[in-house]
Amino acid sequence: MADGPQILQSPEEVLSTLGQDGKRKWLYPIESKGRFLIWRRWAGFLLVVLYLALPVVHIGGKPAILLDVVHREFALFGTVFYPTDTLLLMLMLIAVMVAVVLFTALLGRVWCGWACPQTVYLEFVFRPIERLFEGREHVRKRRDEGPWSFDKFWRKALKWGTYAAISLLLANTFVAYFVGWEALLTWMQAPPTENWGFFLVMSITTGLILFDFGIFREQMCTITCPYARMQSIMLDEDSMIVSYDPGRGEPRSKRSKKQLRMEQEGTIPQQGDCIDCFACVRTCPTGIDIRDGLQMECVACTQCIDACDHIMDNIGKPRGLIRYTSERELEGGKTRLLRPRTVVYAAALVFVLSAFSLVLSQRSDFDVNIGRAVGEPYAELGDGRIANRLRFRVRNQTPQPASFSIRTAEGAPLELRPVGALPMTLTGGEMRRIEVWVMAPASAFNGDTMPATFLLEFSDGNTVERTFTLLGPSAR
Ligand code: SF4
Ligand code: SF4
Repeated sequence: MADGPQILQSPEEVLSTLGQDGKRKWLYPIESKGRFLIWRRWAGFLLVVLYLALPVVHIGGKPAILLDVVHREFALFGTVFYPTDTLLLMLMLIAVMVAVVLFTALLGRVWCGWACPQTVYLEFVFRPIERLFEGREHVRKRRDEGPWSFDKFWRKALKWGTYAAISLLLANTFVAYFVGWEALLTWMQAPPTENWGFFLVMSITTGLILFDFGIFREQMCTITCPYARMQSIMLDEDSMIVSYDPGRGEPRSKRSKKQLRMEQEGTIPQQGDCIDCFACVRTCPTGIDIRDGLQMECVACTQCIDACDHIMDNIGKPRGLIRYTSERELEGGKTRLLRPRTVVYAAALVFVLSAFSLVLSQRSDFDVNIGRAVGEPYAELGDGRIANRLRFRVRNQTPQPASFSIRTAEGAPLELRPVGALPMTLTGGEMRRIEVWVMAPASAFNGDTMPATFLLEFSDGNTVERTFTLLGPSAR
């Protein structure tokens, strides 16, 4: 790493959740009340509501978000994207990636601590349920280490039953993002034997959610998530990270209020502000000690800030021994918001978003493609004309129904004979194909080909023009 903050790993441990014997160290992080917890709770609550509501709320006749992979249709807040919108989808993905890189460079792992579903559901849904049924951390730890009893059994049974119900709801919501709630409700009402696929997907998703939030927990962040591993290339010394201020905290030492008072009075030598109480460690959901420096396991949840602020209030020292700050600021400098990488990332984001808006504004309401129908490329008719059988594929990209008919350009020596009824009606978002015989006099061909222009006239007043090359005798 060239200039970013150094990301450390505890010297005596491979992982904070792994003991010396290689076994999982089960964590009992204590919830630390404070201003950051309140703000994060609100953010988490809004995100949970949003997550549950987005597939239910309809905008323009479609769910606010629908990622219908099977029908290759993606609805995002009233705009429906089809496979023909590959460029738009690509630009959107690039914009999301650039935004993640930019926000990480500016604000560190703010996503992890404030918005990632792993953190939001674990901290604000699953852990509160655990506390409700099994009590606070020290009580839970003691009970877990003790033998099985009826008390332990019913508490765990209720906890896991509630976990399972919530996991089922989350799994249904997750699947609804891909198929929509209407389809989901229809499948739910049918017996599992009629919908094995759905039943299997739902069971696996519920099981995975249950496993993740009930057992796997912080290991998702510390072992599985690739984002944590990319920190070193995304952060620099001006990125805002949750940090302990060693300049203020060291030399740390445990001392009583009386000793602290004597320090203030100057009767004993002054120590650092850290009283080595371990409140920041006991609250950490990934089990690390922030005082060891920035570590890969830190999900920037700010719990250590709240814990330490509370201690500072108690001992009469200013808050912020652990705080959001940059490495440059810790070294006495001033955090720079504008720096080469943030300027480049921001410019790239503006560029990609502008390109997205431009492509979106030029997107036609109707997508028309012409191809050759299967079979012989053309037929020679007895009256001296050549017939080409073409296939028109038309998609209505608006939410409203529309009908269309096909004609040729004014004065063109062409006759059209559709194989099917025209005008044809398309519902919002629907794609249909129609085959059309196109007859042209052999004399109109220049060698073996002839360009033909078709006009598709839609009921909403739109006209789409397409040119296609007809084939004649010597093309065989
Ligand atoms: S909570 Fe604050 S005072 Fe206590 S050990 Fe952590 S940094 Fe030191
Ligand atoms: S070190 Fe602090 S911010 Fe990082 S995960 Fe632990 S408690 Fe959260």
